[in-house]
Order: sequence, then C-alpha cells, then structure tokens
Amino acid sequence: MSHHTVTGPATNLDRVLDRNRAFAATDARTEVPALPFLPRQELYLITCLDCRVDPAQVLGIGLGDALVQRNIGGRVTPSVLGDIAYAAYLVGAKAPEGPWFEVAVIHHTDCGSGLLADEPIRRGYAELMGVDERTLADVAVLDPAKTVAADVERVRRAPHIPDRVQVSGHVYDVETGLVTTVVPAGR
Ligand SMILES: [Zn+2]
Repeated sequence: MSHHTVTGPATNLDRVLDRNRAFAATDARTEVPALPFLPRQELYLITCLDCRVDPAQVLGIGLGDALVQRNIGGRVTPSVLGDIAYAAYLVGAKAPEGPWFEVAVIHHTDCGSGLLADEPIRRGYAELMGVDERTLADVAVLDPAKTVAADVERVRRAPHIPDRVQVSGHVYDVETGLVTTVVPAGR
C-alpha cells in the first residue's frame, strides 16, 4: 500500500516567506518616511503589472523610495487619478511644505495589454466582463510613447490634483532595458 502525503507549500507565497523573515531580521523597515506619502525619491510611479517591469529592479527603487501603482498597461484610469489625488491631498493637508512627489507614468514595449488590439481576444474579454469593446481598445498599449503622452495629459488635466504635483512620461524598452523620457516633468 502506497503512503501518499502532500508535502508541497500551502500557498505559492510560502516559497518566498523565508525572504520575508530575512527582511524582518534587518532594520530596513525602520529607515522609511512616515505618512503622509513623502517617498524618499519624491516619486509616484505608475507602471504595468508585467513581471518584467518591476521598478525595484528596473529603476533600483528601494523601500520607502516611491509610491508605486501598477495595473494592466500602467494606464491612468479614473481609479488611478483618485489615488493620486488622495496622496496629494494628504501631503497638502499634513505636510504642505512637501516634498511634493512627481508622478512618473511608464509604459513599455511588448506590453500584454496590446493583445486587446486583437479582435477575438478583445471581444472575448469584453463578453466576459460585460463591457464595451471600444473601451477595451483604448486600454491597449501598442505605441508606448503615444499612450504614455495621453496618460500624462490625463493627470495634468485632473482638477483634483494640485499643480504642485509635476507629471512626466517614460517608455521602458524590454529589449534594451533602458527607460527613455518622452514627456519631461511639468504641468
Ligand atoms: Zn505591460
């Protein structure tokens, strides 16, 4: 009679929890800014959730360096605008002397959101979510320099985000590993 025991991890996170214990054994967590949202590098990064585009690796962003918001494509959605507005509102309310963060929107080449330009993929996902196909077509990052410029404009035009928040746009090339600025910081 075979004796079968499941010995695998309870969750995939178990595979990295020893890294957490190693982190907790250092004092890195004590060397961070306190609220309200005054990240050390004065950055609010918006990037794709693609695992190749992790700002910790690509930009050397360490703990406490930046606010990081990630979604499909690194797009500036109404929800993202609300989060930027909240972070800026807290700085204004609690620490108006700053430093004020700069919003840096980063889109990248070979983005998975581009698959939404493929009609069967887009139609299937629109049916799944019960949303308008045309809305989804706008999410696709096919020309990252173009979509990032459009998203920078969305932040700059947002009435609830104070002018002290500067906004810039960048493209990360997954082939070369280089980030290129396409919209300099401004408002
Ligand atoms: Zn992507």
